[in-house]
Amino acid sequence: MLIVQKYGGTSVANAERVFNVAKRVKSYYDEGNSVIVVVSAQGDTTDDLIEKAKEINDKPSKREMDVLLSTGEQISMSLLAMALEKLGAPVISLTGWQAGMLTNSNHGNARIKKIDSERILRELDQSKIVIVAGFQGINKYDDITTLGRGGSDTSAVALAAAVGADLCQIYTDVRGVFTTDPRIVPNASKLDDISFDEMVELASLGANVLHNRSVELAKKFNIELEVLSSLEYERGTIVKGVKQVEKMLVRGVARDNDVARITIKNLDDEPGAAFKLFSLLAKKNINVDIILQTLGSDGKQDISFTVPESSLESAVETLNDNLSEFGAEKILFDKNVSKVSIVGAGMASNPGVAAKMFEALYSANINILMISTSEIKISVLVEQSLAEAAVREIHDKFGLADL
Ligand code: ADP
Ligand code: ASP
Ligand code: MG
Repeated sequence: MLIVQKYGGTSVANAERVFNVAKRVKSYYDEGNSVIVVVSAQGDTTDDLIEKAKEINDKPSKREMDVLLSTGEQISMSLLAMALEKLGAPVISLTGWQAGMLTNSNHGNARIKKIDSERILRELDQSKIVIVAGFQGINKYDDITTLGRGGSDTSAVALAAAVGADLCQIYTDVRGVFTTDPRIVPNASKLDDISFDEMVELASLGANVLHNRSVELAKKFNIELEVLSSLEYERGTIVKGVKQVEKMLVRGVARDNDVARITIKNLDDEPGAAFKLFSLLAKKNINVDIILQTLGSDGKQDISFTVPESSLESAVETLNDNLSEFGAEKILFDKNVSKVSIVGAGMASNPGVAAKMFEALYSANINILMISTSEIKISVLVEQSLAEAAVREIHDKFGLADL
């Protein structure tokens, strides 16, 4: 079999863990499989590198930031290769660019355009274990790019698609995908399987156990993923296309703290107001999420919406520069908010799911600031300090514990 395995930061955090991974990789290799391993940076290395950059320059160019951040994964790949050498296994480590990961030029959040897998296949042909640095690639100008936080999952799935792997395993520090983050709700249940669509939603709504783009890719190329612990020998969660007969009402609860709310007060209530406002933000590449518009009175209205916290500064700056264009009075913003969401493919055909979620919040005396719904999810915005309590209440209300 041709296997792609990805090991996250905690799984390679220190020498002991690196050897633990090396032994696991070798056991698959010794069974006669071809193995490609994608690694993340050790422990908090990426965060530490970001801090280091800040000490020098609080607004470094994105290009240089990518040069710096890509080094974290290079440490892991070489250490893992050395551990495998020590165990007597033939191995080679490759950077993203050596492995042919070609991306666009969107530094810090680059997208993989193509993988030129010739080198990897050549090394596999020589019976080597191939270790590839996750989270990184190269653009058409030969500059180093990174794929966005958590992006090693996406490197792994893209590689699995490119080489036509038979199995793609994502090893992490929990036993699989749970009904919610087990660090918030210790008795959350591990899911045996979950559909691509539900997993894309959960990941996009803050369940960072998988990078959302990795799940989108897995769906596109129909690559079944297994999410499992690198510290145990137990079955994990299979992420796959659905053939479920009965869709689950609610599969999971997610929380996202990377959210800020912006309110524009006393905006002109006239055709084109929303268009003008949101096209300004679109031009700055700012992703707008939940939008709420008040009923107009006296020709004025308020519009509130959420953006990722990392885009807040740029959004507020852009809007303040153009306030007069929409006749607005002022802009308010709040970073201390979180989005809490439920996801389930069965909720579209079941009335009452939203009411049940709101009841859970009411009984915990948690105020809802904004609401948004789609076919397979319901999200609410709450005060950040109440978000974990909200997750627990909702998780409990839908009976997701110890399934
Ligand atoms: P890695 O370094 O292996 O990529 P991450 O920290 O990116 O690991 O992702 C694993 C973490 O995701 C877990 O430690 C857990 O706290 C968090 N998490 C959030 N939501 C979920 C969920 N629904 N199921 C499992 N883990 C989750
Ligand atoms: N090291 C990168 C990060 O911390 C990529 C990853 O872990 O997937 O975001
Ligand atoms: Mg991760």
